[in-house]
Amino acid sequence: MTEVFGRKVQAGERAYFAIPAGELAHKAVIQFPVIVASGAKAGPVLWINGTVHGDELNGSYGAWELTRELDLDQVSGTVIVTPISNPIAFECRNKISAIDSVDMDTVFPGDPEGMLTQRFAHLLYQEMKKHANAVINFHTMATPYMADPYSVRKIVPGVPEEVNKIAEGMQRAFGVKTNCLVDLGAKTNELPGVTNGALDITCLKDGIPAFMGEMGQGGKVETAYVEAAKKGILNVMRFLHMLEGQAAETKGQVLITKRRFLRIDHGGLIKMQVKPGDVVKAGETLLDSHYYGEEVEHLAVQADSYIIGIRENPVVNTGDRIAFVGTEWKDWQK
Ligand SMILES: [Zn+2]
Repeated sequence: MTEVFGRKVQAGERAYFAIPAGELAHKAVIQFPVIVASGAKAGPVLWINGTVHGDELNGSYGAWELTRELDLDQVSGTVIVTPISNPIAFECRNKISAIDSVDMDTVFPGDPEGMLTQRFAHLLYQEMKKHANAVINFHTMATPYMADPYSVRKIVPGVPEEVNKIAEGMQRAFGVKTNCLVDLGAKTNELPGVTNGALDITCLKDGIPAFMGEMGQGGKVETAYVEAAKKGILNVMRFLHMLEGQAAETKGQVLITKRRFLRIDHGGLIKMQVKPGDVVKAGETLLDSHYYGEEVEHLAVQADSYIIGIRENPVVNTGDRIAFVGTEWKDWQK
């Protein structure tokens, strides 16, 4: 038997319910949905969180579908899914909430007396901390960008080695080709949300192995990446001994240990000349750009780069991110 958010779910059963999380000025109750798939046999709790940023859907879709398809007689332990953890941002199909403009993945563990988004984070994390033995937090790239699925794991100072080891095993088992390792003890080029108050970092600090699955593009549902999320969750469940069998090995996995955004100096229109997964040598063309003149300019990368994600929306202003690249990477051998 599992009891989560005050709901009892018997072994071998599924439950779908919604948790009140606040109210709007006209008294509409804000809720976020919860799915519990409780295996017939005892085992760990894998908690899958989605849509912490309101436009990021592929991972949540995969988790929803998978919890319906699992044969619970074969499952040891429990899968808990919070597919829409940020309901206000989701309502607007925006990364952050229009009510308080707070990025939810920067405010964990949350604050019960804080702004609405901080309260969502608190409500969610209190239960997660109580129950979860392992966490996958699904994201996507922002809506103007595209990427093949990639994973991100963080080295957080002070986290015990045995927690990092399990997180690493989960990340590898997840089984996507492109994988990132971000050492928060080193100087990073990361966006602020990646280094402070993120759900995965908060979990790791509390001894819960966690990583992020970045599943393609924001604002849409992409079938191939929904399937990649489902396959990844199943592999993580095998790694955690929640399902029989070995996690399928993925050939040619790459581990990126240094990464950065590339930004553009001039406004205009761009045409990318690379795609996610490409390796581009220093001096080779990243994109063509025209600034409404006769000439097309070719913009090259300064250093050898592994393309994680690229800008799909061709309209750019000065300072816009045009690509997300690895600048140090290696074959991820066992
Ligand atoms: Zn995100």
